[in-house]
Amino acid sequence: MLIVQKYGGTSVGSSERIKAVAQRIAETRDAGHRVAVVVSAMSGETDRLLGLAGQVTDRPDAQASDLLVSTGEQVTVALLSMALKDMGYPTQPLLGHQVEITTDSAFGRARIQRIATDRLTSALNDGAIVVVAGFQGVDADDNITTLGRGGSDTSAVAIAAVTCADVCEIYTDVDGVYTADPRICPRARKMQRISYDEMLELASLGAKVLQIRSVEFAKRHHVAVHVRSSFAPDTGTFLVEEEPSMEDVIVSGVTSDLNQAKITLLRVPDRPGLAAKLFGPIADDNIVVDMIIQNASAEGSTDLTFTVPQDDVQKALSRVAHIAEEIQAGGVTSDTQVAKVSIVGLGMRSHAGVASRMFQVLAREGINIQMISTSEIKISIVIEAKYRELAVRVLHDEFIAPAQ
Ligand code: ADP
Ligand code: ASP
Ligand code: MG
Repeated sequence: MLIVQKYGGTSVGSSERIKAVAQRIAETRDAGHRVAVVVSAMSGETDRLLGLAGQVTDRPDAQASDLLVSTGEQVTVALLSMALKDMGYPTQPLLGHQVEITTDSAFGRARIQRIATDRLTSALNDGAIVVVAGFQGVDADDNITTLGRGGSDTSAVAIAAVTCADVCEIYTDVDGVYTADPRICPRARKMQRISYDEMLELASLGAKVLQIRSVEFAKRHHVAVHVRSSFAPDTGTFLVEEEPSMEDVIVSGVTSDLNQAKITLLRVPDRPGLAAKLFGPIADDNIVVDMIIQNASAEGSTDLTFTVPQDDVQKALSRVAHIAEEIQAGGVTSDTQVAKVSIVGLGMRSHAGVASRMFQVLAREGINIQMISTSEIKISIVIEAKYRELAVRVLHDEFIAPAQ
């Protein structure tokens, strides 16, 4: 078999851990498999590098920032390769540009466009263990790019796709995908299988165990992904195509996301074309607007509230301030003390009344709902940030693991 193994930050977080990872890779090799490994930076390293940039300037140049943060992965590729060679295994370390992982030029959030397979496959055919730096690529002008936080997952799944690997194993610090973040919800349960679509929702709604783009890639290219622990040998969670029985479960997961901010435009004149005028420039700035609500119009004007990722709130506010003036709105307010909490499940398609049950549970706890959005297989609400953990737990109790 050809196995792609990805080791996340905690799994390679110290020299001891790197040696343990090398041992695990060696065992896979000894079992007769070909192995390509993708590694993250040591845990905390990417944040440390971003912190350094922040000490030099308030507005780090995006291209230079990618050059900086990509060094984290270079360190782990080198250390892991040394460990494997020391154990007597032929090993080929490769950075993103050496593989030729070509991306667009959106620094900090680049998308993979193409991955050359020549170097990967010839090294694998020579019997080498290939160790590739996750998170990084190279654009058409030979600049180093990075794929967004958590991007090593996407590197691994993409490499599994182009090499037609039998499985892509994501080794992390939890032993699989849980019904809620086990750090928030002690009663969360490990799932044996989860459909690509449910995992897509969980990942996009805050379950950072897999980067969303890795799930999109896996779904599109039918990559078998196995999320498991690097600390224990147990089987983890498999991403699978949807199975009929999956609809029997109404809610399969609860997620939360603190990286949200709410912006409100007060007293927007109620005229055709104003929403387009507002959201056009925001989209041009590459800011992803998530939820939008517009209150009923009173005396010819209305309040308009929407959410953006917290990292983009300053950029969005400076855009909005301009437009508010232009359209003679009554003012702009923002709130970063909010959380988005969501329930996800294929079974919601065929069950009525899930939303009202959700709202009742929150009402019982005195949690005020500020915004709501729904799709076929998820319901999200925005609430005050301080209620996040409570909301996740009570929703998990209600829909997934009733308290005894
Ligand atoms: P790595 O460094 O290995 O990429 P991450 O920190 O990116 O690991 O992702 C693993 C973390 O994801 C876990 O430690 C856990 O707290 C968090 N997480 C959030 N939601 C879930 C979930 N539903 N199931 C499992 N882990 C989750
Ligand atoms: N090191 C990068 C990050 O911290 C990429 C990754 O770990 O997947 O976001
Ligand atoms: Mg991660």
